[in-house]
Amino acid sequence: MTADRRAVLLLLDGARPDVFAHLAQAGDLPNISRHLLEPGGWAPATTVFPSTTGVAYLPLLTGCYPGTCDVPGIRWVDVTRYGGRWWRDRAHVRSYCGYQGGLLNADLRPGIASLFDLVPDAVGICTPFNRRLGPGRELAGGARKLWGGLAHYTAGYGVLERAVGRALCRAVAGRPGFIFAVFPGVDGVTHFHDPWHPDVLDTYRGFDAIIGQYAQAGGFDGDHLTFLVSDHGLSRMDRHTDVALELEAMGLPTLRHPVVWRRDPVAAVMVSGNASCQVYLRPGVTRPARHDVAEIEAGAVPGIPGDLIDRLVALPGVALVVGTDHDGVTVAGREGRATLRGEGDTIAYLPDVADVLGLGDAATRADREWLAHTLDAPYPDAPTQLTQLFRSGRTGDLVVIAEPGADLRSDWEVPEHRSGHGSLIADHMRCLAAANVPLQGPVRTVDVFPLILDWLGLEIPAGIDGVVPAVAVRA
Ligand SMILES: [Zn+2]
Repeated sequence: MTADRRAVLLLLDGARPDVFAHLAQAGDLPNISRHLLEPGGWAPATTVFPSTTGVAYLPLLTGCYPGTCDVPGIRWVDVTRYGGRWWRDRAHVRSYCGYQGGLLNADLRPGIASLFDLVPDAVGICTPFNRRLGPGRELAGGARKLWGGLAHYTAGYGVLERAVGRALCRAVAGRPGFIFAVFPGVDGVTHFHDPWHPDVLDTYRGFDAIIGQYAQAGGFDGDHLTFLVSDHGLSRMDRHTDVALELEAMGLPTLRHPVVWRRDPVAAVMVSGNASCQVYLRPGVTRPARHDVAEIEAGAVPGIPGDLIDRLVALPGVALVVGTDHDGVTVAGREGRATLRGEGDTIAYLPDVADVLGLGDAATRADREWLAHTLDAPYPDAPTQLTQLFRSGRTGDLVVIAEPGADLRSDWEVPEHRSGHGSLIADHMRCLAAANVPLQGPVRTVDVFPLILDWLGLEIPAGIDGVVPAVAVRA
C-alpha cells in the first residue's frame, strides 16, 4: 500500500447527475465545488441493473455486478432450495428490507473481496454491507437502524445525515486508508416527492454543508482520492402496476412480500427498487436451473400459460420482459423482440423483430464500446447489464422492467412512493461520479473499486467486472 495515501468514497444515495449539476452551476454546492469539482471534476457514469439501494452498493465495494456477486436484487428466491414450506424454507426467500437485511454480507458469492477486506484499517459509516468491519471500524450503524427506520416514514432524514457527517469527521482523524460513508437522505426524501422538489434540493445543500464541516476537520488534507458517487437516480412515479396482483388476476396463485407464503403458488414476484421485479415460476418445486423462454412458451412449465411473456409485456407500465434462451438473453417489448448474445468480451445485439432497446441495427461490440454507445440511449448500458444479471442462479426466470413514470408495486407500499428507481431507464441508470482528480468518462460504478485500489497501490483482484479506464485518474 502506498504510504500516506487515503481514499474516501462518499455515497450520496439516489443523487441524480442533472440535479447535482444544476445545483453546482447555481453555486449551491460551494464546498463540493471547492474541494472536489475544481481540483477534479465529474464524468458521465452508469450504475448497475437492478438500480436499487444496497444491491447497487456492492459494485462500488467489490468491482463486481449484482449477477457476479450473486445478489441479483433486493428480494429473490433460491429456486434450488425453496420447497414451498412457509417456516422451514423461509431462509430461501430473501428480502433485505426487513429482518434479513444483515444477510447481504453472507449472500455475497464466496471468493469476492470487498474494500473492507483489502484495506486493513477501512472504516464503513451507515453501510448496510459491513462484512469484516471489526470493532471501531463500523460507525453510525445504530443511527442507520434507528433513524433510517423512522425517517422511512417521516421524511426526517436530516438527523441521520448529520449523524453520518459527525461520524465522518471523527473517522478522518484516525487517517484510515479507506472510508466508505453512506448519506441516505437524497434517496429517502426524493421517494416522498419529485427529484426536483425544494425539500430534495435542500437535502443536497445540507450534504454540501456537511462537506464543509468535513473539510474543516481535515478531510481533504494530505494525499487523498475522494470520490462522490450515487448508486442510482430516481424519477417521478405516477403509475403503479402490481405484477403479483396482475398474475393473481390471471388465475396464477403468486407468492409475494410481505406475507411470503401462498399455498401451491405457481409464481413468485420479487420486487427490486420498485421499478423492476423478477418472476420465478413454480417457486415451491426445487430445480437446478431457471426455466428459459422456449420452455415457457412451449407450455412446458406446469400451470404457466405459454403466452405469459406477451401478457406481461402488455401490462400498463411495463417496458420490457427479459428471459434467457439457450445461448443468450431474450428481450421482449411491445413492438417485438431482440436477442443479446455474449461471447468473450463482446456482446451481439440482434433486434430480430424490433429494436426494443433503441440501439439501432444489429451490432457486435466490445463490452466497453457498448457503454459509450448506449450512454444516451433509453436504456444505458443495457447489453452488459441484462447479460450480467443472469450470471446468478438466484435471478428470476423472467425480469420485468418498468417504463418511465411507472413502478411495479402498489398493494402494500407504505408510504406510497412518489418517486422511485430500480429500472433500466436512463433516469435510474445514470448516476453521479465526481472526484478530486480529473476523471475520464464514461465510467461504471464497478470501476470505482479498481480505481481506489490502484490509487492506494494495492493489487486489483482478478476476475472482477470493473476496469481502470485508460488515463482515468491522473496520479
Ligand atoms: Zn439508493
